Amino acid sequence: MSGSYLRFWGVRGSYAAPHKTHLGVGGNTSCVEVRSGDSLLVLDGGTGIIPLGEALMQAGDLSEMMVVFTHYHWDHICGLPFFQPAFSPKWTIKFFGPGESAADIEQKLSNQMKAPYFPVETETWMAHIEYVNPNRGGLQHGPIGVAYHSVHHPGMTYGYRLNVAGKSVVYISDNEIDFLKSAIARRYEEFDAEEHQLLKKIETEERTAELAAIRGTDILIHDAQYTPHDYDRKRGWGHSCYVDTVNFAIEAGVKALYLYHHDPTYDDGKVGSIHDDCLRIIAERGSTMACHIAYEGLVVDL
Ligand SMILES: [Zn+2]
Ligand SMILES: [Zn+2]
Repeated sequence: MSGSYLRFWGVRGSYAAPHKTHLGVGGNTSCVEVRSGDSLLVLDGGTGIIPLGEALMQAGDLSEMMVVFTHYHWDHICGLPFFQPAFSPKWTIKFFGPGESAADIEQKLSNQMKAPYFPVETETWMAHIEYVNPNRGGLQHGPIGVAYHSVHHPGMTYGYRLNVAGKSVVYISDNEIDFLKSAIARRYEEFDAEEHQLLKKIETEERTAELAAIRGTDILIHDAQYTPHDYDRKRGWGHSCYVDTVNFAIEAGVKALYLYHHDPTYDDGKVGSIHDDCLRIIAERGSTMACHIAYEGLVVDL
């Protein structure tokens, strides 16, 4: 396949869910392929990166790629030890993710392949591997521009804004939109009137900055893990309720939203009902935003 496109190889959050009842949406964890001609950028290395690696080896037409990670929780890195191109001398692979330096990123990524957790270490990788130094001004991979910012998720976690084929694509796999609001609400009684005012100001500033990061984007791929019922029991876990995700995207003038990082306990029917409810909210608000379920195998032309 040529041209510019996105392909979803893994759309689950937390852990893989290869159950018959889940396969319409897909069972693999986070991984999205971004192609612009011969340039390949991969977002996250969950189990979805394993079939991507097999497809790349079979196609045999490329020899370079960049893989960027939102963070290093298992569901985003656990496909990497089985990623065939890393074991092939034909490939050059650049890795980037949260970290102080290239060496720090290398350590964070390679630790999961150390004994006793895995039989072979990253020293057995035969590809030419480079770890990319952080640059807050942004990165460039061929024609693809890559900017990143921090989001609300335990540990240091990035959201990515890509500029590809004249389109903007924002990828925020793990983010609790209402994190600050919930955290303040939980301890509201502990603060006095003056502090309430200050907190309100911080909350507004934070929301403004978060909206700016996704403002007007053509495509937003965003965490929509929980129903309102489940979110109430899992506030502070670092994931969003789909109602917040949809409202956040509408407010920022996003053109097309892809619901992502589906809860592994939700079957196809449940994810479908989440989608229906999102469409209802969008219609009710009189918005023209498109909203799709990110499902495994979905290809989006850019
Ligand atoms: Zn995750
Ligand atoms: Zn995570």
